[in-house]
Amino acid sequence: MPRPHEDCLFCSIAQAGAYRHKARGFVAIDDINPQAPVHVLVLPERHVDTFRDVGEFDAREAKRMLEFVAETAEKVGLRDYRVLVNVGATAGQTVFHLHWHILGGDASGVDVPAAVATAEVEQ
Ligand code: AMP
Ligand code: ZN
Repeated sequence: MPRPHEDCLFCSIAQAGAYRHKARGFVAIDDINPQAPVHVLVLPERHVDTFRDVGEFDAREAKRMLEFVAETAEKVGLRDYRVLVNVGATAGQTVFHLHWHILGGDASGVDVPAAVATAEVEQ
């Protein structure tokens, strides 16, 4: 079991929480403040501050993480969904333990962040 980072909420949750899915170093939990009918967070059990530090994962672990995101979506009954990572405080990151948002369940109910909407329009 990885050593928890001091005072990190998601390290605590990764060690003892109500999981939707848990396997090979990753856990999935329900977001406490859902922004869509289904809103799940995927986090590595070991502490990594942000997606900027994704290089801390070796190739196998990084692949596992992506597969775990897809597995989790399937497990919670989603076929179509959004995957989102906020990177840094001004981009909306509030918990500094890397996590992936999986949002879905009703296309009209997904709150599309402005940055994503702009990117879609600009092509
Ligand atoms: P971000 O803003 O990208 O850092 O995402 C942090 C997410 O964690 C937000 O969507 C919060 O609603 C969620 N969150 C905060 N505390 C908890 C908690 N105790 N359990 C589950 N989700 C949480
Ligand atoms: Zn942590």
